Amino acid sequence: MDHFEIRDGVMHAEDVSLADLAAKVGTPFYCYSAATIERHYRVFAAAVAGLGNGDPLVAFAVKANPNLSVLATLARLGAGADVVSGGELARALAAGVPADRIVFSGVGKQNHELAAGIEAGILQFNVESEAEILMLGAVAEHYQRAVDISIRINPAVDPKTHGKISTGGADAKFGIPWDRVPAAFALAATQEWLRPVGLAAHIGSQLFDLGPVEDTIRRLGDLARAMTEAGHSIKRIDCGGGLGVPYRADQPPPPSPADYAAMVARVTAGWPWRLVFEPGRMIVGNAGVLVSSVILTKEGARRHFIVVDAAMNDLLRPSLYNAWHEFRALSPRQARRIATIVGPICETGDTFAEDRDVEDVAAGDLVAFMTAGAYGATMASTYNSRALVPEVMVKGAEWAIVSQRNQPAAMLALDARAPWL
Ligand SMILES: *Cc1c(COP(=O)(O)O)cnc(C)c1O
Repeated sequence: MDHFEIRDGVMHAEDVSLADLAAKVGTPFYCYSAATIERHYRVFAAAVAGLGNGDPLVAFAVKANPNLSVLATLARLGAGADVVSGGELARALAAGVPADRIVFSGVGKQNHELAAGIEAGILQFNVESEAEILMLGAVAEHYQRAVDISIRINPAVDPKTHGKISTGGADAKFGIPWDRVPAAFALAATQEWLRPVGLAAHIGSQLFDLGPVEDTIRRLGDLARAMTEAGHSIKRIDCGGGLGVPYRADQPPPPSPADYAAMVARVTAGWPWRLVFEPGRMIVGNAGVLVSSVILTKEGARRHFIVVDAAMNDLLRPSLYNAWHEFRALSPRQARRIATIVGPICETGDTFAEDRDVEDVAAGDLVAFMTAGAYGATMASTYNSRALVPEVMVKGAEWAIVSQRNQPAAMLALDARAPWL
Protein backbone atom coordinates (compact mmCIF):
# COMPACT_ATOMS: atom_id res chain seq x y z
CA MET A 1 0.00 0.00 0.00
CA ASP A 2 1.22 3.51 -0.71
CA HIS A 3 0.02 7.09 -0.46
CA PHE A 4 0.33 8.13 -4.12
CA GLU A 5 -3.07 8.55 -5.69
CA ILE A 6 -4.94 10.66 -8.20
CA ARG A 7 -6.98 13.42 -6.58
CA ASP A 8 -8.78 16.12 -8.54
CA GLY A 9 -7.14 14.77 -11.68
CA VAL A 10 -3.54 14.99 -10.42
CA MET A 11 -1.30 12.51 -8.68
CA HIS A 12 -0.74 13.45 -5.06
CA ALA A 13 1.76 12.29 -2.50
CA GLU A 14 -0.44 12.24 0.60
CA ASP A 15 -2.04 15.72 0.54
CA VAL A 16 0.49 17.38 -1.77
CA SER A 17 0.02 17.66 -5.53
CA LEU A 18 3.06 16.36 -7.35
CA ALA A 19 2.38 18.88 -10.12
CA ASP A 20 2.63 21.70 -7.56
CA LEU A 21 5.86 20.21 -6.27
CA ALA A 22 7.22 19.95 -9.82
CA ALA A 23 6.47 23.65 -10.35
CA LYS A 24 8.33 24.55 -7.16
CA VAL A 25 11.25 22.13 -7.23
CA GLY A 26 11.73 21.51 -10.96
CA THR A 27 12.06 18.06 -12.53
CA PRO A 28 13.33 15.43 -12.20
CA PHE A 29 13.01 14.85 -8.46
CA TYR A 30 12.30 12.00 -6.07
CA CYS A 31 9.33 12.30 -3.79
CA TYR A 32 8.91 10.16 -0.67
CA SER A 33 5.76 9.69 1.39
CA ALA A 34 6.52 9.67 5.12
CA ALA A 35 3.19 7.99 5.87
CA THR A 36 4.04 5.11 3.55
CA ILE A 37 7.48 4.62 5.11
CA GLU A 38 5.97 4.69 8.59
CA ARG A 39 3.21 2.28 7.63
CA HIS A 40 5.57 -0.25 6.10
CA TYR A 41 7.89 -0.17 9.08
CA ARG A 42 5.00 -0.59 11.51
CA VAL A 43 3.48 -3.46 9.53
CA PHE A 44 6.80 -5.29 9.42
CA ALA A 45 7.69 -4.62 13.07
CA ALA A 46 4.22 -5.73 14.21
CA ALA A 47 4.47 -8.92 12.13
CA VAL A 48 7.76 -10.01 13.72
CA ALA A 49 7.04 -8.68 17.24
CA GLY A 50 7.47 -11.37 19.86
CA LEU A 51 9.46 -13.76 17.68
CA GLY A 52 12.67 -15.38 18.92
CA ASN A 53 13.43 -14.25 22.47
CA GLY A 54 10.57 -11.77 22.19
CA ASP A 55 12.69 -8.71 21.50
CA PRO A 56 13.52 -8.70 17.77
CA LEU A 57 15.53 -5.89 16.19
CA VAL A 58 14.33 -4.48 12.87
CA ALA A 59 17.43 -2.91 11.36
CA PHE A 60 16.56 -0.96 8.20
CA ALA A 61 19.04 -1.70 5.40
CA VAL A 62 20.36 1.82 4.90
CA LYS A 63 21.66 1.19 1.40
CA ALA A 64 18.07 0.95 0.11
CA ASN A 65 17.56 4.63 0.92
CA PRO A 66 20.15 6.47 3.02
CA ASN A 67 18.45 9.89 2.95
CA LEU A 68 18.80 11.52 6.38
CA SER A 69 15.07 12.30 6.67
CA VAL A 70 14.14 8.75 5.66
CA LEU A 71 16.46 7.40 8.34
CA ALA A 72 15.22 9.90 10.91
CA THR A 73 11.61 8.96 10.14
CA LEU A 74 12.45 5.33 10.85
CA ALA A 75 14.66 6.10 13.86
CA ARG A 76 11.72 7.85 15.54
CA LEU A 77 9.70 4.67 15.22
CA GLY A 78 12.45 2.68 16.93
CA ALA A 79 14.10 1.17 13.88
CA GLY A 80 17.70 0.07 13.97
CA ALA A 81 20.02 0.20 10.97
CA ASP A 82 22.00 -2.28 8.91
CA VAL A 83 24.96 -0.37 7.46
CA VAL A 84 27.54 -1.49 4.93
CA SER A 85 30.05 1.37 5.00
CA GLY A 86 31.50 4.03 7.26
CA GLY A 87 29.43 6.57 5.34
CA GLU A 88 26.20 4.73 6.10
CA LEU A 89 27.22 4.35 9.75
CA ALA A 90 27.72 8.12 9.98
CA ARG A 91 24.31 8.71 8.39
CA ALA A 92 22.52 6.30 10.70
CA LEU A 93 24.09 7.92 13.76
CA ALA A 94 23.35 11.43 12.45
CA ALA A 95 19.71 10.43 11.92
CA GLY A 96 19.42 9.39 15.56
CA VAL A 97 19.62 5.61 15.30
CA PRO A 98 21.07 4.46 18.64
CA ALA A 99 24.44 2.73 18.20
CA ASP A 100 23.18 -0.35 20.03
CA ARG A 101 20.61 -0.84 17.27
CA ILE A 102 23.17 -0.78 14.44
CA VAL A 103 24.65 -3.84 12.73
CA PHE A 104 27.53 -3.49 10.29
CA SER A 105 27.53 -5.84 7.27
CA GLY A 106 29.74 -5.96 4.21
CA VAL A 107 32.37 -8.11 2.59
CA GLY A 108 35.16 -5.52 2.51
CA LYS A 109 35.05 -3.42 5.64
CA GLN A 110 38.25 -1.46 6.06
CA ASN A 111 40.17 -0.81 9.26
CA HIS A 112 38.92 2.77 9.52
CA GLU A 113 35.33 1.52 9.16
CA LEU A 114 35.82 -1.18 11.78
CA ALA A 115 37.31 1.48 14.06
CA ALA A 116 34.35 3.81 13.49
CA GLY A 117 31.92 1.04 14.44
CA ILE A 118 33.86 0.21 17.59
CA GLU A 119 34.13 3.86 18.59
CA ALA A 120 30.38 4.30 18.11
CA GLY A 121 29.67 1.17 20.16
CA ILE A 122 27.45 -0.60 17.60
CA LEU A 123 25.51 -3.77 18.46
CA GLN A 124 27.52 -6.10 16.27
CA PHE A 125 29.62 -6.61 13.18
CA ASN A 126 28.40 -9.23 10.74
CA VAL A 127 31.75 -10.70 9.75
CA GLU A 128 32.08 -12.19 6.29
CA SER A 129 35.53 -13.83 6.15
CA GLU A 130 38.29 -15.35 8.23
CA ALA A 131 40.52 -12.44 7.19
CA GLU A 132 38.00 -9.97 8.57
CA ILE A 133 37.94 -11.83 11.91
CA LEU A 134 41.68 -11.19 12.21
CA MET A 135 41.40 -7.56 11.06
CA LEU A 136 38.58 -6.82 13.51
CA GLY A 137 40.41 -8.70 16.27
CA ALA A 138 43.40 -6.41 15.79
CA VAL A 139 41.33 -3.20 15.73
CA ALA A 140 39.38 -4.29 18.84
CA GLU A 141 42.70 -5.05 20.54
CA HIS A 142 43.89 -1.55 19.72
CA TYR A 143 40.80 -0.08 21.40
CA GLN A 144 40.82 -2.70 24.19
CA ARG A 145 37.09 -2.99 23.65
CA ALA A 146 35.02 -6.19 23.58
CA VAL A 147 33.20 -6.42 20.26
CA ASP A 148 30.20 -8.62 19.45
CA ILE A 149 30.34 -10.38 16.11
CA SER A 150 27.97 -12.55 14.13
CA ILE A 151 29.34 -14.83 11.46
CA ARG A 152 27.56 -14.23 8.16
CA ILE A 153 27.18 -17.59 6.53
CA ASN A 154 27.01 -18.38 2.85
CA PRO A 155 24.21 -20.95 2.89
CA ALA A 156 24.74 -21.97 -0.75
CA VAL A 157 21.07 -21.61 -1.61
CA ASP A 158 19.53 -20.30 -4.82
CA PRO A 159 17.30 -17.40 -3.78
CA LYS A 160 15.59 -17.39 -7.22
CA THR A 161 15.95 -13.70 -7.89
CA HIS A 162 17.87 -11.56 -10.41
CA GLY A 163 21.54 -12.64 -10.56
CA LYS A 164 22.88 -9.19 -9.69
CA ILE A 165 20.93 -9.09 -6.43
CA SER A 166 21.42 -12.74 -5.49
CA THR A 167 23.86 -13.04 -2.57
CA GLY A 168 23.33 -16.50 -1.11
CA GLY A 169 24.74 -18.79 -3.83
CA ALA A 170 27.90 -20.83 -3.27
CA ASP A 171 29.77 -18.66 -5.78
CA ALA A 172 28.67 -15.35 -4.28
CA LYS A 173 31.32 -13.23 -2.57
CA PHE A 174 29.22 -12.97 0.60
CA GLY A 175 29.61 -14.78 3.89
CA ILE A 176 31.67 -17.73 5.06
CA PRO A 177 30.71 -21.10 3.51
CA TRP A 178 28.44 -22.68 6.10
CA ASP A 179 30.59 -25.78 6.56
CA ARG A 180 33.51 -23.57 7.69
CA VAL A 181 31.45 -21.82 10.36
CA PRO A 182 32.73 -23.99 13.26
CA ALA A 183 36.31 -23.16 12.28
CA ALA A 184 35.42 -19.47 11.98
CA PHE A 185 33.97 -19.48 15.50
CA ALA A 186 37.09 -21.22 16.77
CA LEU A 187 39.24 -18.60 15.06
CA ALA A 188 37.16 -15.77 16.53
CA ALA A 189 37.54 -17.33 19.98
CA THR A 190 41.33 -16.96 19.67
CA GLN A 191 40.87 -13.19 19.43
CA GLU A 192 40.94 -11.74 22.92
CA TRP A 193 38.51 -8.88 22.21
CA LEU A 194 36.01 -10.61 19.93
CA ARG A 195 32.79 -12.15 21.22
CA PRO A 196 31.34 -14.50 18.59
CA VAL A 197 27.71 -14.30 19.66
CA GLY A 198 25.66 -14.80 16.54
CA LEU A 199 24.99 -16.03 13.06
CA ALA A 200 23.70 -14.05 10.11
CA ALA A 201 22.59 -14.54 6.54
CA HIS A 202 21.15 -12.45 3.72
CA ILE A 203 20.54 -14.41 0.55
CA GLY A 204 19.33 -11.78 -1.87
CA SER A 205 16.84 -9.08 -2.67
CA GLN A 206 13.41 -8.81 -4.29
CA LEU A 207 12.66 -12.35 -3.06
CA PHE A 208 9.28 -13.83 -4.01
CA ASP A 209 9.91 -17.39 -2.85
CA LEU A 210 10.11 -17.92 0.91
CA GLY A 211 11.44 -21.48 0.53
CA PRO A 212 15.15 -20.60 0.26
CA VAL A 213 14.79 -18.08 3.12
CA GLU A 214 13.21 -20.77 5.28
CA ASP A 215 16.02 -23.22 4.47
CA THR A 216 18.55 -20.54 5.37
CA ILE A 217 16.98 -19.64 8.71
CA ARG A 218 16.73 -23.34 9.57
CA ARG A 219 20.43 -23.72 8.83
CA LEU A 220 21.23 -20.70 11.03
CA GLY A 221 19.37 -22.42 13.86
CA ASP A 222 21.20 -25.73 13.34
CA LEU A 223 24.53 -23.91 13.37
CA ALA A 224 23.57 -21.89 16.45
CA ARG A 225 22.78 -25.11 18.32
CA ALA A 226 26.05 -26.69 17.20
CA MET A 227 28.02 -23.61 18.23
CA THR A 228 26.28 -23.58 21.61
CA GLU A 229 27.31 -27.20 22.10
CA ALA A 230 30.85 -26.25 21.11
CA GLY A 231 30.85 -23.83 24.05
CA HIS A 232 30.10 -20.52 22.36
CA SER A 233 27.47 -18.31 23.89
CA ILE A 234 25.00 -17.49 21.12
CA LYS A 235 22.75 -14.46 21.58
CA ARG A 236 21.48 -13.41 18.15
CA ILE A 237 20.35 -14.74 14.81
CA ASP A 238 20.23 -12.24 11.96
CA CYS A 239 17.79 -13.35 9.25
CA GLY A 240 18.78 -10.62 6.77
CA GLY A 241 16.35 -8.79 4.49
CA GLY A 242 15.27 -9.31 0.93
CA LEU A 243 11.48 -9.43 0.94
CA GLY A 244 10.20 -8.40 -2.49
CA VAL A 245 7.86 -5.53 -3.34
CA PRO A 246 5.25 -5.38 -6.12
CA TYR A 247 6.69 -3.40 -9.03
CA ARG A 248 4.07 -4.57 -11.53
CA ALA A 249 0.33 -4.43 -11.15
CA ASP A 250 -0.09 -7.25 -13.67
CA GLN A 251 1.93 -9.82 -11.73
CA PRO A 252 1.21 -11.75 -8.54
CA PRO A 253 2.35 -9.86 -5.42
CA PRO A 254 5.31 -11.00 -3.29
CA PRO A 255 4.74 -12.68 0.08
CA SER A 256 3.37 -10.21 2.63
CA PRO A 257 5.19 -9.34 5.87
CA ALA A 258 2.57 -11.50 7.61
CA ASP A 259 3.39 -14.49 5.33
CA TYR A 260 7.08 -13.94 5.99
CA ALA A 261 6.60 -13.62 9.75
CA ALA A 262 4.43 -16.76 9.86
CA MET A 263 7.23 -18.70 8.17
CA VAL A 264 9.83 -17.27 10.58
CA ALA A 265 7.59 -18.04 13.57
CA ARG A 266 7.26 -21.65 12.45
CA VAL A 267 11.00 -22.15 11.92
CA THR A 268 12.15 -20.31 15.03
CA ALA A 269 9.54 -21.56 17.51
CA GLY A 270 11.21 -22.03 20.89
CA TRP A 271 14.47 -20.33 19.92
CA PRO A 272 16.03 -18.52 22.86
CA TRP A 273 17.96 -16.10 20.66
CA ARG A 274 17.21 -12.52 19.71
CA LEU A 275 16.24 -12.22 16.06
CA VAL A 276 17.51 -9.44 13.81
CA PHE A 277 15.82 -8.50 10.53
CA GLU A 278 17.27 -6.24 7.84
CA PRO A 279 14.45 -5.16 5.54
CA GLY A 280 15.30 -2.44 3.03
CA ARG A 281 13.30 -2.44 -0.19
CA MET A 282 10.14 -3.60 1.59
CA ILE A 283 10.13 -0.49 3.82
CA VAL A 284 10.86 2.21 1.24
CA GLY A 285 10.26 0.73 -2.23
CA ASN A 286 6.80 1.99 -2.95
CA ALA A 287 7.18 4.96 -0.61
CA GLY A 288 8.93 6.86 -3.42
CA VAL A 289 8.37 8.01 -6.98
CA LEU A 290 10.63 9.71 -9.49
CA VAL A 291 8.82 12.65 -11.07
CA SER A 292 9.96 13.71 -14.53
CA SER A 293 8.84 15.81 -17.51
CA VAL A 294 8.45 14.73 -21.09
CA ILE A 295 11.00 16.70 -23.12
CA LEU A 296 9.72 15.54 -26.49
CA THR A 297 8.43 12.54 -28.34
CA LYS A 298 9.98 11.22 -31.54
CA GLU A 299 9.36 8.55 -34.12
CA GLY A 300 12.15 6.07 -34.78
CA ALA A 301 12.20 3.71 -37.73
CA ARG A 302 9.90 1.38 -35.84
CA ARG A 303 9.38 2.83 -32.39
CA HIS A 304 7.59 5.72 -30.75
CA PHE A 305 10.00 7.24 -28.23
CA ILE A 306 9.10 9.28 -25.18
CA VAL A 307 12.18 11.26 -24.11
CA VAL A 308 11.95 12.32 -20.46
CA ASP A 309 14.22 14.55 -18.41
CA ALA A 310 15.07 11.75 -15.94
CA ALA A 311 17.74 9.32 -17.02
CA MET A 312 19.69 6.23 -16.02
CA ASN A 313 21.95 8.35 -13.82
CA ASP A 314 18.88 9.24 -11.70
CA LEU A 315 17.27 5.78 -11.63
CA LEU A 316 19.70 3.05 -12.60
CA ARG A 317 17.59 -0.03 -11.91
CA PRO A 318 16.07 -0.46 -15.39
CA SER A 319 19.43 -0.36 -17.13
CA LEU A 320 21.27 -2.30 -14.39
CA TYR A 321 18.73 -5.06 -13.75
CA ASN A 322 16.15 -4.69 -16.51
CA ALA A 323 13.92 -3.62 -13.66
CA TRP A 324 10.33 -2.60 -14.25
CA HIS A 325 8.91 0.70 -12.93
CA GLU A 326 5.31 1.59 -13.74
CA PHE A 327 5.19 4.76 -15.87
CA ARG A 328 2.23 7.05 -15.22
CA ALA A 329 1.12 10.51 -16.25
CA LEU A 330 0.62 12.78 -13.23
CA SER A 331 -2.66 13.80 -14.88
CA PRO A 332 -4.26 10.60 -16.16
CA ARG A 333 -4.62 10.28 -19.93
CA GLN A 334 -7.31 8.08 -21.45
CA ALA A 335 -5.45 7.38 -24.69
CA ARG A 336 -2.75 4.72 -24.60
CA ARG A 337 -0.02 3.71 -26.99
CA ILE A 338 3.00 1.47 -27.26
CA ALA A 339 6.11 3.51 -26.48
CA THR A 340 9.75 3.19 -25.55
CA ILE A 341 10.68 5.50 -22.70
CA VAL A 342 14.20 6.86 -22.65
CA GLY A 343 16.29 9.54 -20.98
CA PRO A 344 18.65 12.06 -22.58
CA ILE A 345 21.89 10.18 -21.79
CA CYS A 346 24.11 9.05 -24.63
CA GLU A 347 23.78 5.31 -23.97
CA THR A 348 21.24 2.92 -25.40
CA GLY A 349 21.04 1.48 -21.89
CA ASP A 350 19.37 4.73 -20.86
CA THR A 351 15.98 3.12 -21.38
CA PHE A 352 13.23 2.90 -18.76
CA ALA A 353 10.81 0.75 -20.73
CA GLU A 354 10.76 -0.87 -24.14
CA ASP A 355 7.68 -1.14 -26.35
CA ARG A 356 5.39 -0.79 -23.37
CA ASP A 357 1.68 -0.04 -23.37
CA VAL A 358 1.54 3.32 -21.54
CA GLU A 359 -0.60 6.43 -21.26
CA ASP A 360 -0.03 8.55 -24.35
CA VAL A 361 1.90 11.56 -23.12
CA ALA A 362 3.16 14.61 -25.00
CA ALA A 363 5.98 17.15 -24.62
CA GLY A 364 5.63 19.09 -21.39
CA ASP A 365 3.56 16.45 -19.58
CA LEU A 366 4.59 15.48 -16.09
CA VAL A 367 5.11 11.77 -15.46
CA ALA A 368 6.15 9.49 -12.64
CA PHE A 369 8.15 6.31 -12.35
CA MET A 370 6.51 4.43 -9.51
CA THR A 371 8.05 2.33 -6.72
CA ALA A 372 11.33 4.23 -6.91
CA GLY A 373 11.93 4.70 -3.18
CA ALA A 374 14.44 1.85 -2.85
CA TYR A 375 17.75 1.70 -4.70
CA GLY A 376 16.76 4.87 -6.58
CA ALA A 377 18.34 8.14 -5.49
CA THR A 378 21.01 6.21 -3.62
CA MET A 379 22.38 4.82 -6.88
CA ALA A 380 22.25 8.18 -8.69
CA SER A 381 25.36 9.55 -10.32
CA THR A 382 26.29 12.65 -12.27
CA TYR A 383 27.01 10.79 -15.51
CA ASN A 384 26.83 13.06 -18.54
CA SER A 385 27.59 15.90 -16.08
CA ARG A 386 23.99 15.94 -15.00
CA ALA A 387 22.97 17.41 -11.65
CA LEU A 388 22.18 14.95 -8.87
CA VAL A 389 18.43 14.61 -8.56
CA PRO A 390 16.91 16.30 -5.48
CA GLU A 391 14.76 14.43 -2.98
CA VAL A 392 11.54 15.75 -1.43
CA MET A 393 9.64 14.28 1.50
CA VAL A 394 5.92 14.78 2.03
CA LYS A 395 4.11 14.36 5.33
CA GLY A 396 0.41 15.10 5.19
CA ALA A 397 0.11 18.56 3.65
CA GLU A 398 3.72 19.47 4.45
CA TRP A 399 6.74 18.94 2.25
CA ALA A 400 10.46 19.60 2.44
CA ILE A 401 13.46 19.27 0.18
CA VAL A 402 15.48 16.59 1.98
CA SER A 403 18.40 16.48 -0.44
CA GLN A 404 19.48 19.32 -2.68
CA ARG A 405 20.09 19.11 -6.38
CA ASN A 406 23.82 19.72 -6.71
CA GLN A 407 24.62 22.34 -9.29
CA PRO A 408 26.78 21.67 -12.35
CA ALA A 409 28.93 24.68 -11.42
CA ALA A 410 29.58 23.19 -7.97
CA MET A 411 30.51 19.89 -9.56
CA LEU A 412 32.88 21.64 -11.95
CA ALA A 413 34.46 23.41 -8.98
CA LEU A 414 35.53 20.02 -7.58
CA ASP A 415 37.70 19.45 -10.64
CA ALA A 416 41.10 21.03 -10.97
CA ARG A 417 43.28 21.90 -13.90
CA ALA A 418 46.54 19.95 -13.67
CA PRO A 419 49.49 22.35 -13.16
CA TRP A 420 50.88 21.65 -16.64
CA LEU A 421 47.64 22.65 -18.42
C1 LIG B 1 20.98 -5.06 0.82
C2 LIG B 1 20.96 -5.79 2.11
C3 LIG B 1 19.77 -5.92 2.83
C4 LIG B 1 18.45 -5.38 2.36
O1 LIG B 1 17.92 -6.05 1.27
P1 LIG B 1 16.46 -5.67 0.77
O2 LIG B 1 16.24 -6.54 -0.38
O3 LIG B 1 16.48 -4.23 0.41
O4 LIG B 1 15.53 -5.95 1.90
C5 LIG B 1 19.82 -6.56 4.05
N1 LIG B 1 20.99 -7.07 4.53
C6 LIG B 1 22.14 -6.97 3.86
C7 LIG B 1 23.38 -7.54 4.44
C8 LIG B 1 22.17 -6.34 2.62
O5 LIG B 1 23.33 -6.25 1.95
